[in-house]
Order: sequence, then C-alpha cells, then structure tokens
Amino acid sequence: MLVVMNRDCSANQIDRVCEAIRDLGFEPHPMPGAERTVVCITGNKGVVPIERFAGLEGILEIIRVSKPYKLVSKETRSCDTVVAFGDRHIGGGETCLIAGPCSVETEDATMRIAEQLRNLGVGFFRAGAFKPRTSPYDFQGLGHAGLEILAKVKNELGLRIVTEVLDAAELSAVAQVADILQVGARNMHNTPLLKQLGGVEQPVLLKRGMAATLDEFFMAAEYIMVHGNYNVIFCERGIRTVSTHSRFTLDVAAVAAIKQLSHLPVLVDPSHAAGISNMVEPLGYAGMAAGADGLIVEVHDNPSAAWCDGLQALHPSKLQEFIRNMNALRELLASTRCSS
Ligand code: PEP
Ligand code: MN
Repeated sequence: MLVVMNRDCSANQIDRVCEAIRDLGFEPHPMPGAERTVVCITGNKGVVPIERFAGLEGILEIIRVSKPYKLVSKETRSCDTVVAFGDRHIGGGETCLIAGPCSVETEDATMRIAEQLRNLGVGFFRAGAFKPRTSPYDFQGLGHAGLEILAKVKNELGLRIVTEVLDAAELSAVAQVADILQVGARNMHNTPLLKQLGGVEQPVLLKRGMAATLDEFFMAAEYIMVHGNYNVIFCERGIRTVSTHSRFTLDVAAVAAIKQLSHLPVLVDPSHAAGISNMVEPLGYAGMAAGADGLIVEVHDNPSAAWCDGLQALHPSKLQEFIRNMNALRELLASTRCSS
C-alpha cells in the first residue's frame, strides 16, 4: 500500500501519516520523489484499513502496490534512484564504469593496475579481498590483508572501492574500506547478510544469483531496503542456461525488464557472463543497449598471471578502446531515445 502525499504537503503531515502507520503495527517508508513524497507501507499481511487515514491532511491518494516487492517497484517511486558519489553517479543517465582485477593481488600489482585505470578516467576500482570460489582448493582471497591494500588504493589514488562482502561476520571490516559493498551471485539468497546490509550506509551492488528469477532478485533487494538501505544497485552477471559457448548467459532481457519494473539502477557484468575476454566487449555493448546504467568489468595488465579469472580479464589498453566505443554507443542511444 502507498500513501501518496500532496505536492505541497508539510513535513508534519508526512510525520502524522507515518505515525498512523506505526499505530497500525506496520512500518512506514517515506520516499521523497522529484514531484511528491510517497509513504510506502510494509509489514502488513492483508489489507490495510485505509479508513484509519481518513482525518489526516496532506494525502492525495492511497493506492495498492500490485507487486510482492514494494520498495523496489516503480509503482512506489516513479523517478529513478540515482546513487551519487560526489561528481560521479550511478543511474540518472550517466554511464558508470567499475573496473579492476577479480581479486586483490600483491600490493604492487594492485596499485599498478589501479593507477592505469585511474589514468583512463575510471572512478570505481573493483577487486575482491574475500573470494567466493567454487573449489575449496582455489585461492580464497587475501582477506583482511587485501582490505589494507584496497585502503591504499583508495587513499593514495582517490579511487572508490567496490569489493565483495562474503559473510556478515566480516561486514564491519569490509565496510571500513568499501564505497560500494558487493554481494556476489552465490550470496544473493543469503538473507541474514542482506538484512545486515540494510543497516549500513554504503550502497550495495547486488549480483543476480545464477539461477534466480527476477522476482527472487527483486525480493533480495527488498530485504536490504526494508531493513533501511535504499541504495541498491542491481547487477546482471549472467545466468545458467543450456549454452556452453560462454561461462554464463547474459540475460539482456532482464536488464530491460528491470528498467521497466524498478527505479533502481542496474549494471551489467559482461566479464563473468562471457568467461573469456574476447566476448566481454560485445556483451557489454549488448547490456548498455538493453538499458544498463553501466558496467563492471574485470581488468588485468597481465591476464595470464592473474590469481583469479584471468581468462576473462581485459587488458587496460583494450579498456581504453572499449570506453571510447561505449561513449559513442551512449550518444547514439541517447539520440535514438530523443527522436523516438
Ligand atoms: C566477482 O565479481 O569476482 C564474482 C565472484 O562475481 P559473481 O558473484 O557474479 O560470480
Ligand atoms: Mn571474478
């Protein structure tokens, strides 16, 4: 259920609506929009007795949300959520690029790659200190030592850090360094972790589980939002299908569907979808053409020596060309949207 407030309503009137919702035993979520504030109601099992709002001022209308996910839905917030980091934005028409190696490696290698990325104008550096690996015999990440290296990248190069939190037990340590907390595909269903992420101030990059439906993906985001963190960024990273020609199948239709159903930004990860570097660029372009707000791409300056996922890593020199083409594609897409 949504209580849509009048355009010129006062803060007091919004507070009184929130109080009435709490009195009913439900949770109010005021969502300020460009035009007006909407107060979303969660926690109700059945119909909300709307007659309880009858005497309250400042209300334009009360509408039912038809979707099981409420805070994620465009029904609740018609204007797109833009996650702002100073002069960089995720969503709102800007193309965001997050790049870096799969995992944090030695301090030298990590700083060297990060510096090359910064020189290419990349604002967000990705690298995992805690790695979710299929095999217990594979490199599991440097852990806390990796976080220290990421802190150096942040402090000395001014890059914003995107890194994965695998476990709620490590959340406070990871949150000390991360500007964006990544939830990996294998953790999309980890509801205790999602609940904890509702209480942090950093935005969450939520990767789609490799066999998750869109409804499940949305509900995972809803967990984070209903616990208080409204800055969720979706990431389509490919799903399991019958195809064997790529590591996963990039679901570009999901990108288009997310843009239609939700106000949250969505990024595409062409690296994990492709699994091989020569398919990363075409999949990235496909994701952008489907409406993505940007990409997260694995980059390494010596892919054959990478500690993790080297096969799919782009060389920085390739990234430069990729960025050029992406900018051209963005302009083309913007012009087709203007003329349609
Ligand atoms: C990663 O980003 O390196 C990663 C492990 O991704 P995913 O969770 O999508 O497999
Ligand atoms: Mn990886």
